[in-house]
Amino acid sequence: MPIDPTLPYDDQNIFAKILRGEIPCKKVFEDDCALAFHDINPQAPTHVLVIPKGAYVSWDDFSTKASDAEIAEFVRAVGQVARALGLVEPGYRLLANIGMDSHQEVPHLHVHIFGGKPLGPMLMR
Ligand code: 5GP
Repeated sequence: MPIDPTLPYDDQNIFAKILRGEIPCKKVFEDDCALAFHDINPQAPTHVLVIPKGAYVSWDDFSTKASDAEIAEFVRAVGQVARALGLVEPGYRLLANIGMDSHQEVPHLHVHIFGGKPLGPMLMR
């Protein structure tokens, strides 16, 4: 079910549990501000999620409330993960779902990194 991104942060969401180590993940990167791990249900040969460690529901919440330093570090982390995965030369796609129309399911900001094959059109037609 898509989530309502205007609701307050729910610290029982699945990514909050991953951040607390209560649920395992296949980690690919971690620093002070971000964690990256393989998606449990990959939609491409490479499908990694990058999440900030701060409690932000969505890109809207993050871009409104996070500090400039948090935003800069998170954006750099996404780029660093994609480079480390070898995706720069072949190319890759970033996706962040925000709210109902995008069908965001997990109410903790995450950026999807897709790669490993030609990814086709940007949106379903
Ligand atoms: P959304 O639709 O919110 O943008 O994407 C949520 C993503 O989280 C989905 O691609 C889904 O497969 C992934 N996901 C949901 N639960 C888990 C989990 O417990 N572990 C991992 N690694 N990914 C999850």
